Amino acid sequence: MQNNSSAVQLEDSIPSNTDPIRTAITVARGDGIGPEIMDATLRILEAAGAELEIEEVAIGEAVYKSGITSGIGEEVWASLERTGVFLKAPITTPQGGGYKSLNVTTRKTLGLYANVRPCVAYAPFVRTKHAGMDVVIVRENEEDTYAGIEHQQTDEVVQCLKLVSRPGCERVIRYAFDYAVRNGRKKVTCMTKDNIMKLTDGMFRKVFDEVAAEYPDIQSDHFIIDIGAARMADTPEQFDVVVTMNLYGDILSDIAAQVAGSVGLAPSANIGKTCAMFEAIHGSAPDIAGQDIANPSGLLLAGVMMLRHLGQHDAAARVHNAWLAAVEGGIHTSDMRGEHHNEPAIGTVAFADAVIARLGQAPKQLPATSDAAPAIDSDPGQAADDAVRPTEPAAKTLVGVDVFLHWNADDRNPDTLAEKLRAASAKLPIELTMITNRGVKVWPAGRSETFCTDHWRCRFKAGGESFDNGRVIALLAALNVAGLDAVKTENLYELDGKPAYSMGQGE
Ligand code: NAD
Repeated sequence: MQNNSSAVQLEDSIPSNTDPIRTAITVARGDGIGPEIMDATLRILEAAGAELEIEEVAIGEAVYKSGITSGIGEEVWASLERTGVFLKAPITTPQGGGYKSLNVTTRKTLGLYANVRPCVAYAPFVRTKHAGMDVVIVRENEEDTYAGIEHQQTDEVVQCLKLVSRPGCERVIRYAFDYAVRNGRKKVTCMTKDNIMKLTDGMFRKVFDEVAAEYPDIQSDHFIIDIGAARMADTPEQFDVVVTMNLYGDILSDIAAQVAGSVGLAPSANIGKTCAMFEAIHGSAPDIAGQDIANPSGLLLAGVMMLRHLGQHDAAARVHNAWLAAVEGGIHTSDMRGEHHNEPAIGTVAFADAVIARLGQAPKQLPATSDAAPAIDSDPGQAADDAVRPTEPAAKTLVGVDVFLHWNADDRNPDTLAEKLRAASAKLPIELTMITNRGVKVWPAGRSETFCTDHWRCRFKAGGESFDNGRVIALLAALNVAGLDAVKTENLYELDGKPAYSMGQGE
């Protein structure tokens, strides 16, 4: 997808007395409060001199109900193919099964790998306990458990695959460091749970350490996600830019937005290599739809991020400074609370009018935004993606296999299962080395206190012999003959001589 390059090329070929070339963007008004806050946002952007050519598309509830399970039709993809920029109001996901998350589909289809969420306090004009808070969360947007690959394998056990790739880690981490450099930020903090998930979260942290070494002028540190989230709720002032994995970032950014003042104020940018989507972080708020009381600020500030992304910095600064001046002036919708709010709350339309009336003004107490110090920004995603290094192939040796069984004998005795497995595989040059249940070793030398489900991981090793998938198939055939129900296998590899799988206790 090309992002505005045609507009730039055309500029030279037109007479200077014509209207300036407008940048085409795709706009969806969404559901619930979406149309109201989009209307307010577009009015303000237009009044500020933003040069936008709007392609309006329909997404969301009506599209879902027309039978398109993704909530997004072909004409929307065609528009995004043309524009590469999506300003999107929140949508309502219909209740009931069969509907896919439109946001997850859009992010993954368009390769929007970085979700950038600035969380800024506007004290004392918006109530917060953290007046100095100014954190940007950069969340990995495509991988992790959000791959949405889930299976039920036994009566008792379901699973969700957590997929993490090296290039996926590298480009979002590079994006976070580039963002820090470009926006005059001092520190990038990584958050993972690598003490438990040593391969998946461990890879994210390892790549973070590698990339951090290339940015000696930016400080870097790491928190385990649980204590990191606690610190974000308690002392968010200690953070500057935070980069983290998809699920952690989803939760952490809502915590950060809430402690900054309100989720209703927070914008987000979903950045890809050639495409970007801008939206508020809140939902479609059906409880207040159509009442002219919704706060348009989250979507408006997403619009500011979009203008900066498009290089329309003057318009971005005009909108942002007018909004800051309005907030400082006590202009507020009913969800905004501040010590200086003596005036009654106003509605969505009046809020937009008040911001438009202040275009050209700058705030007096809150820091004004400028090109040199943009308070909220979103870099394009091409450079970080281009800088991702190819992954060197490793020497890969198959050394064994984990076979997962659905086994529901009355006593669920691991010793009995081990006997069956050994008898079934006796003629094969492989050895049963371990059985675990939900990751806890139950054979050999398990403990009778350990609770066992009907889902067993049975590890077979090659015992010094060469191993290949033919052996795995022979083993599965032998287990099948023995009446054992293998529900899946995971091959055990060594990469460059090192085990590339989690070790069982005692191995
Ligand atoms: P919500 O964010 O829509 O609302 C939560 C609460 O915050 C409500 O009380 C609401 O009135 C209030 N609120 C939200 N935005 C506000 C605003 N701009 N001004 C004033 N008050 C505001 O969350 P929800 O109720 O859990 O979800 C409603 C619908 O939105 C669901 O269908 C959900 O799937 C969808 N949703 C969409 C998106 C998106 O499109 N990006 C994101 C989240 C939720």
